[in-house]
Amino acid sequence: MPTQAKIALAGNPNSGKTTLFNELTGSRQHVGNYPGVTVEKKEGYYLVDESRITIVDLPGTYSLTAYSVEEVVARDFLANEKPAAVINITDASNLERNLYLTCQFLELGIPLVIALNMIDVAKTRGIAIDHDKLSALLGVPVIPIIARSGKGTADLMRKAVAVAKEERNWQPIHISYGEDLDATLLEMQDKIEKENFLTEVYPARWVAMKYLEQDSQILEIGRRQNVSLSQELEAMEKTVSDHLLKTMETYPEAMIADHRYGFIKSILIQDVINQRFDEDRLYISDRIDKLVTNRFLGPLIMFGVLFGLYKFTFTFSEIPLGFMETFFTWLGGIVDRILPDGQLKSLFLSGIIDGVGGVLGFVPLIMFMFFGIAILEDSGYLARAAFMMDRIFRIFGLHGSSVMPFIVSGGIAGGCAVPGVLATRTLRSRKERLATLLTVSFMNCGAKVPVLALLTAVFFSENQARVLFLLTLLAWAVALLVAKFLRLTVLSGKSTPFVMELPPYRFPTFKGLLIHTWERTWQYIKKAGTVILGISILLWAMMTYPGLPATERDAFEQQRQNIVSSYAIEIAQAHQQTDNVDSSPAALEEQSKLIAIDGAQAEAALRFSLAGRIGTWLENITWLTGFDWRTNIALLGGFAAKEIIISTLGTAYSLGEVDPEETGFLRETLANNPLWNPAMGMALIAFIMFYTPCFATVICIVREAGSWKWGLFSMVFNTFFAFTLAALIYRLALFMGFGG
Ligand code: GDP
Ligand code: MG
Repeated sequence: MPTQAKIALAGNPNSGKTTLFNELTGSRQHVGNYPGVTVEKKEGYYLVDESRITIVDLPGTYSLTAYSVEEVVARDFLANEKPAAVINITDASNLERNLYLTCQFLELGIPLVIALNMIDVAKTRGIAIDHDKLSALLGVPVIPIIARSGKGTADLMRKAVAVAKEERNWQPIHISYGEDLDATLLEMQDKIEKENFLTEVYPARWVAMKYLEQDSQILEIGRRQNVSLSQELEAMEKTVSDHLLKTMETYPEAMIADHRYGFIKSILIQDVINQRFDEDRLYISDRIDKLVTNRFLGPLIMFGVLFGLYKFTFTFSEIPLGFMETFFTWLGGIVDRILPDGQLKSLFLSGIIDGVGGVLGFVPLIMFMFFGIAILEDSGYLARAAFMMDRIFRIFGLHGSSVMPFIVSGGIAGGCAVPGVLATRTLRSRKERLATLLTVSFMNCGAKVPVLALLTAVFFSENQARVLFLLTLLAWAVALLVAKFLRLTVLSGKSTPFVMELPPYRFPTFKGLLIHTWERTWQYIKKAGTVILGISILLWAMMTYPGLPATERDAFEQQRQNIVSSYAIEIAQAHQQTDNVDSSPAALEEQSKLIAIDGAQAEAALRFSLAGRIGTWLENITWLTGFDWRTNIALLGGFAAKEIIISTLGTAYSLGEVDPEETGFLRETLANNPLWNPAMGMALIAFIMFYTPCFATVICIVREAGSWKWGLFSMVFNTFFAFTLAALIYRLALFMGFGG
């Protein structure tokens, strides 16, 4: 440490900065002004082991946003002079409000020591603070002191000097500011990093945050330094700010403050503060928190709420779901009538309508689910659910911040692993982060839900909601066990404490709920309309080409003609007896025989196709799990996107079917197929839940983990794991008599 190392004292007004400053420096101090402003600048020396340390008493502030000249001065000093350590003085009798500034120091990523001042005052008010716990949760030293009597100040300075000497790489902490702001912050951060905009002085995320807070000083500097980028950032702020106003009736600044307080609350609620009296002064929100995060009641309430969400979704979506099914059947009928037989008709019916229809058919379900989630999220309950789960998560080597990525990925119902993987950015420990991003894809994402809904309808038609609820629990159990396995093997290491935001409860606005629901539903529809349409067509082509060789086609044609000629006499006789030849026994018999041949030909063609060959080859392995070649084709398609499993099954089975008039419900087709017995069903459900993440997620894992190896790992490991599990389930279920 250089002899002239600087240590700054910072804190709220009246937290005792000057008292501490005088205590430390005695008469070795002088008073000046900060250049250009009339704010007093006090500097002094503190002697330790023959070195002189400069102590600077910064102006007292409540925040680090440029609301006042004091704030600008304090902030500029911290950013430009980069003191070796900052002592953040907090008033222990008023900790919650004081930690608001602490939060911002942590977000700035500066070397910090917290002086927990006025513990004498706190004591007389019956407040006891567990400073070790506070220190562990914040990740910085916390020293209790009484500045006025000098108690603890030697200790404090020892710690501050140690921090100043330490080579620790202080990283800014990431507080989540809710989905909308987080997404914008990430985007802004990317742009800021790319152009190295103000990053010599501030962390990129911090600059982005200042844009969201409309910080006058940063805006001004920004406009001078980089016109185009600052315009871009301001436009992004405008967009998200309009959006927040529409959905939550609030501004980014208020949202940020809410989440900072939430962050503090989540720390203090962990038995950091024990207050002997004043219990009835607790706010309503705190009282609700006490109840819903109660060790025993909390989990019960949570399961009740989650189960209620399922009931809600399935009850309300039943009628519109039936309507969608009818609609697509009707549409198929129209297309069937207006298009001539041939490849084009097949493309429309089997590639496009069955494919996209299979996905769009679930829009009502998805919408009700998203609506339910939006209520939980907008009201603030979701964060409490995450808080509850933290205790469980720690057992499995994960972190409280892992909960949100799991929920985003579909931990409650619906969701997507792509934003889930991105949401792991809030995790500070790399190993905890990897363990999280490798297991989030085990959740039942919005793409898997309809597939699972279809399969549960086929196999467990009476208890659909209950089974899907159990599958959600199964997804969690498997994700946690696999995470534990990873944390004990390839990702072993110690865990870090839990810190996450508990935003205040709000009454969600109906408009906000509708917008949030629609945004997510629209994303799902867009995916169905673009990616899935493309892949659905590609798979249709793979399932159609190359067509049967001419000799085989001729053979089928020959069979048809044989049948027609063998009934020719009988039908001619029928002709003489009745006008309605088609309903004569001979005609009906002929018809059903022809249909059987059409079916056999379609099936032969599918088997002969590219996809059919791959699927058939895979039967060499999949006999272990009871999957036939058609199922294999669908599962291959599922790597592109999980929704495709339905559309491919639809295509595979209608291509293999005969009567074009009867596109039928896939559900019924499958339920009537003897191969689809409950044993195979359970194995298939398990396989679909846990095999390789979809293509988009893998790409995202590669990017976020920083190496293609983790992407490859997730594909190979998950598929191997899922297959083993499916094989075990299938064999065990057969053994127990579920094969019929
Ligand atoms: P500043 O605004 O942060 O510089 O705060 P000051 O140092 O001026 O202190 C504000 C008030 O708190 C003064 O009246 C101090 O005497 C009082 N004070 C400071 N530290 C303590 C402490 O540890 N215990 C008690 N009881 N009072 C304190
Ligand atoms: Mg003062």
